[in-house]
Parts: sequence; structure tokens; C-alpha cells
Amino acid sequence: MAPPSSSPPNILSQPIQFLKGIGERRAEVLEKFGIKTVHDLFFSVPRRYLDRTSIVTIAQLREAYFRPSTQAQTEADVQKDYTVVGDVRSFRVMGMGKKSRFVLILGDETGTMQCVWFGGVNYWRTKFAIGETLAVSGQPTAFGGVLQFVHPDVDKIAERQDELVKEEEVAQVDWSKTLNTGGLVPLYPSGKELERVGLDSGGFRRVIGNALQRHIDKVGETLPGSLLGKEHLIPLQEALQTVHFPKTDSDLNESLRRLKYDELFYFQLKLALKRHGVKTDTHGIPFRIQSKLARQLVDSLPFKLTRAQIRVIKEITADMESAKPMNRLLQGDVGSGKTIVALISMLIAVENGYQAVFMAPTEILAEQHFKTLALLLKGIDVNVRLLVGGQRTKLRRDVLDDVSAKGGRLAHIVVGTHALFEKQVEFANLGYIVIDEQHRFGVMQRQSLRQKGSNPDVLVMTATPIPRTLSLTLYGDLDVSIINELPKDRKPIKTVLRYEEEKATVFKFVREEIKKGRQAYFVYPLVEESEKLDLKAAVVHFEHLQNDVFPELKLGLIHGRLASEEKDDVMQKFKNHELDILVATTVIEVGIDVPNASIMVIENAERFGLSQLHQLRGRVGRGSEQSYCILLSKKWIAKKAERITGGSAKWHEASPKAGEALDQQKLAERRLATMVQTNDGFKIAEVDLQLRGPGDFFGTRQSGVPEFKVADILTDTKILDEARRDAFELIERDPHLKLPEHQVVAEHLRSLHRDAFALMRVA
Ligand code: ADP
Ligand code: MG
Repeated sequence: MAPPSSSPPNILSQPIQFLKGIGERRAEVLEKFGIKTVHDLFFSVPRRYLDRTSIVTIAQLREAYFRPSTQAQTEADVQKDYTVVGDVRSFRVMGMGKKSRFVLILGDETGTMQCVWFGGVNYWRTKFAIGETLAVSGQPTAFGGVLQFVHPDVDKIAERQDELVKEEEVAQVDWSKTLNTGGLVPLYPSGKELERVGLDSGGFRRVIGNALQRHIDKVGETLPGSLLGKEHLIPLQEALQTVHFPKTDSDLNESLRRLKYDELFYFQLKLALKRHGVKTDTHGIPFRIQSKLARQLVDSLPFKLTRAQIRVIKEITADMESAKPMNRLLQGDVGSGKTIVALISMLIAVENGYQAVFMAPTEILAEQHFKTLALLLKGIDVNVRLLVGGQRTKLRRDVLDDVSAKGGRLAHIVVGTHALFEKQVEFANLGYIVIDEQHRFGVMQRQSLRQKGSNPDVLVMTATPIPRTLSLTLYGDLDVSIINELPKDRKPIKTVLRYEEEKATVFKFVREEIKKGRQAYFVYPLVEESEKLDLKAAVVHFEHLQNDVFPELKLGLIHGRLASEEKDDVMQKFKNHELDILVATTVIEVGIDVPNASIMVIENAERFGLSQLHQLRGRVGRGSEQSYCILLSKKWIAKKAERITGGSAKWHEASPKAGEALDQQKLAERRLATMVQTNDGFKIAEVDLQLRGPGDFFGTRQSGVPEFKVADILTDTKILDEARRDAFELIERDPHLKLPEHQVVAEHLRSLHRDAFALMRVA
């Protein structure tokens, strides 16, 4: 399907240097912000718009603030953002140290007012020059009778002028020419680095305005007419023109919708192509599902599988039976019993003559899985081996021999960490891969393990429940199974907040529970910058607990710096109930399973992330006893968090309101409040995502969370659903994009999404 060679190059795929006003220096900086092509630039939409109807003089603002009753004002009126255009009269830093603030005096023809910033003083003092014209927006307040904006939005309108800004000037500021706009003035994201090459908000406006003026008619449509009609989308040219220079709010919304759809559609199209490739690939392994080994295991379990476990096992085995390679995500909250599900499916692979791999994110977890499997498989003839980084050479060689079956006894199941990826690791006949706690691994790693076998089936497991919007984006090419039920005997964990001043009562409570035969975890965050100091703190803490608080009990300490055998030794003792209390740094965060442990005390709980707290809490509540999670924190933080949880507040009230910026302390309050309010991993994940934003949610850059320029992965669910449905339907109907009406799509992929284009060729 070669594109007609006579077609003009699509301007959207041109590098930005092609545009007037963008030289090498600007291009270099822009590239750092992900702007390489004209497409990238045009899709860099304004961060917000200045509504020129909200511009007031300082005198009018004063009136509105101090005497709201003079005009019959509604509450909304008082709350709304006002914009003042004025010039910088003076600025200075006031106060000292932590309390210092930056104060700028802004003036216009009618008077002066203050703009105040607390913190970031050193940044602000370099930002302004006396005499330049600013548009400053915010909600007015007053301090000691002085009219103020606190932390307002600021846009530089003009460099130094010699005359004061006059009211008439504001009304018809020169910007109407350069900005080419009606009521709404676009404001672009900027920053120090961009400003240095002249790309502050105004610079952006000029570059984009110019480019649109010269080239908009050469922008090729990216979506087929049938989709535009079906989804009521406006043409791309119009959307781009409008989003940068809107006349009205409703025009703007239409344009945004079109651009968001565009982004999400092409993203989903890639996933659809990937999935189509896998689905039509018949080179996977068709396993026979009847398995004596699996039957033997299930019969030997001391409990009955939950309905949810049985359901997901059926889903997984149906995939295994088919000749298409499996690519499935198994989602289930902490403690829902994923391990046993994984083991059952691994035994099926083994009985079919293949090897299975069980991969964990940490050594401790790998060790534990290894022990758990060995225990569960007692009396069943399966060779399970462990492969982790810290093993002695001789043992390692022995394991490798079993794995390759050269000289050893064939290892049926290999449990390990990323050590499994290493070159020297050769599998005799790898047919099945289970990856536990997937979010810890990059997509690339998933691929490289896969290449160690011949199209093995892959089961990815995660306890981090992923909100739907994210999972559609991140795992859109995987089939999903969900364990939505905990084993029946579980009691909900009781979670409480305590101040550090109340430690004595906490200790007393822990002692009583231990007397009843329970065990406890004390978890400590890593606080210091240096690992050494941290370790020292953990050791001191441990000694304090052992010597001063619980001299009569047996305590163990586990942390990341221990050698793997030492870690293993401590874990084993705790598991065998030779220890009453395990003091730990966050190494125990994922996966550890000691059902008799029923108390989790988390110190400095305000320092942990929400998912982390939930994971930690998931270490208890694994048996039939009532379990407790005690979050210790600074009094002032705990008090605030209590207030959020108290009364009629619902869990979701812990999430920020739209546009609300939360400082570190507020974020901590919300996290703690959420923990007290719900045990539900999905709700927790949703709040976590809202508090942190998607980029941060998975922690690493290579997590594969895509960055969209226009769409918001959290809020644009509806558009995402539409785009996904349309993209998948399109690929189903025309996987090679052969139909004439799909030529625009093929062309767009060819010029701007080469990876997806390659996928299509393969399919
Ligand atoms: P996770 O999904 O967090 O990995 P695990 O697989 O570690 O959970 O299971 C948690 C605990 O629950 C383990 O001790 C396991 O033996 C037990 N378990 C698993 N399935 C059941 C069940 N159906 N009934 C009772 N206990 C179960
Ligand atoms: Mg697990």
C-alpha cells in the first residue's frame, strides 16, 4: 500500500526548524519538552486563556473587593478571577528565612496593589524588571487594608515602557494585533529554559500565530470523513486555528474535543494494531488443559478457591489452550490470592512439557515465592529453582544447569528476579511466564524475557489496581482478568491514626495483641539522604524497641542492605513465629505473606505514598484474626487528616478539587485520611492518581504511561472510550488500512507514527 509519490509532504510531520522564527537554539530547547514536529507544536495548546472581559482596573478591583455591596454582586462574582493589567513599580523580598516572601507593587492609572509570593523568593526576584507590563490574574484579598493578589498568575505583556498603563490602553491593548483574538487571549506554558530563548507565553503566541497564518491551509486532515461525521468532530484545520485563537468558549470546547479525540484515537489505534497482531498470530503454544498436577495441588489446599479465583483460572486456561500467544493481565487487590492462581496455570505448562518462570520485583519476594511454591508443591513431583542476584557462584551454576537442562535435572519452575534477564540464563524449553507486581517492571523487560522462549504465554499480575482510564491506556493491548473478591474468612483491617505522642498506648496495644499470639510489623520510612545514615537510624530504632520498649519480646530487623541470605533468614524466623515483631524498612512493601501477623505499625506515615501505604497495610489481614494498621504521624498532620475523615466526609473528598494545588503537608493529610476511610484498593488508586498525576503514578519514566499534549488521561474518559471503540472497530474491519476512506489514517501513521506503521505492515 505505497502512498502516492506525488503527494505533498504533510506539513505536520515537518521538523519545527522549518517554521519561521525557530532556529537551532529554540528547536533544541523545544525538543526537551517533547516538541519536535509541527504537529507537536500545533498540539501544544494554551494552558489557559485570559478572558479579556474579566480585566479590571485596580480601582475597580478595590471596589469589588472592599465594597461588594455597591453593586448587587453575586457570590460567584466575588469568587471569580480578575485580571489587572499594570506595570511593575517596585519589588522586594520581605521577611527572613522560611518566612520570607516576595512582594511586587503593580500600578496602573487608577492606583497600586501588591502581588505576594511566599516561597520561591530567589526565583521571583529574577523574574521581573521595573517598568514592564504584566497581566496578573487571581482572586483579590487584603492584608492590613492593602489590596493583594497572593500567588497570582502572571503574564508578561510588554517590556519596559516609559509611560504608565492607561485605562484606554488596556481596553484596546496592542495585543489585538499580535494576538489576533476576540475575547480570549491564549497563555502558553513556559519556564526558565524556554524564556531564555524568547519563548515565554508571548513568544509562543507569536511563533504559533505566525505558523498558523502561513501554513494552516497545508495541514492535512488526519481523520477519515466517516469518523468526523459519526463523532461530530470539526476539521483539524479549524480546530487548530480555534484552539490557539478562540473567539468564544463553545468554539474552544469543540476544538479541544477534536484534538483530544485525535490524540487518543491514534494512541488506541496503535494498541489495536498490536492486539490484532497478537490475536492473529497462531504461533503460540496450544497447551492441553487437563492437568493431574494442578488437580493434585487444588485437592491438597487447606482452603477452597474463591469464585473469583475459579473464574480467572478459566479465563487464563482458555487462553492457554488456544494457539494464539496469551497476553493477559491479572488484577487483584492485595491478599486476593493471585499466587495460587499463577501456580495452577504454571503446573499446566509444566505438565505439557514446558518450563515456567515466576518473576518477582525484589529478592525478598522471589525468595518468599520460592518457599511458598516449594511448600505448596510438597509431595508433587516438580523441580522448582530460585535464581536471584546475590547467590554464591556454585549454587548459581547449579541452578543455571537445571534451567538449561544441560548437565542438571530439568527445572520445571524457575522463580527469580530480573537476574532472569541476564544473557547467561538459557532455558531448555520456556513456555510460560508469570510476572508478579508488573508495575515495577518496564515494558521492555517484559519483551526481553519473552524472547527467551518461543512465543511463551505471558501472565502479568498486579495488586496496584489501575483506574480504568489508565489501564485502557497502559494495558490496552492486554486482556484483563480481575479477582474482585477476598477469601471469605477475612475481616476488614481496622486502620487508625495516632500521634507520635501517643506511642505509649500504641506499644501497650501491640503488647496485648502479641500476648494473644499475634505478630507485628513496625515499618520505618527511609528518611535521610544518605543510605548509611538511614540504616543507622533504623538500627537505633530497632535497638530502642528491643531494649527499652519490648525487652521481653523477640524482635528482628530487616532492611535493604542485608545480604540475601540474611534477609531470608530473618523472614523465615518471622514466618516460623520465632520472632514477635519484625522491624523493617520498606523492603517488605510488596507481597510478603505471613498470615499470623495482624498488626502493622507505620512510623512517619506521612512520608509514604498512598499505594505504598496500601501495600504495607496489605501485609496484615491475611488470616482469620482481626488485623490493625496503625499510622503514626505528627500531631498537626494527623489532626487535620482526622478532620477530613470526620463527620460526613466521604473518601473521595480527599481528592483535590479541579485545579487545586496541594502542598506537601496537605497531600500527606489527604493520603492519611484516605487510608483511614477505605480499604478498597481501587478507590485508593484513584485518589493516589489524582493526588500525584499519571506521570508519577507508576514511579518510573519507562512505565509506559503515555504523555498527551491535549487530552487528560484522568478526566477525558468519555472521549477515550469513543476513540478506543472507533479505533478497534476500524482495525477489525480493515486491519491493513486498504479501504480508500482509510488512506488518511495510513498516511498519518506513515508520516507521524512510524512504529505503528511498522506494526501494520507486519499485520
Ligand atoms: P496476593 O494476591 O496479594 O498475591 P496471595 O496470593 O499472597 O495474595 O494470597 C494471600 C494469602 O491468602 C495467602 O496466605 C494464601 O495462601 C491465602 N489464600 C489464597 N487463596 C485463598 C482462598 N481461596 N481462601 C483462603 N485463603 C486463601
Ligand atoms: Mg502477591
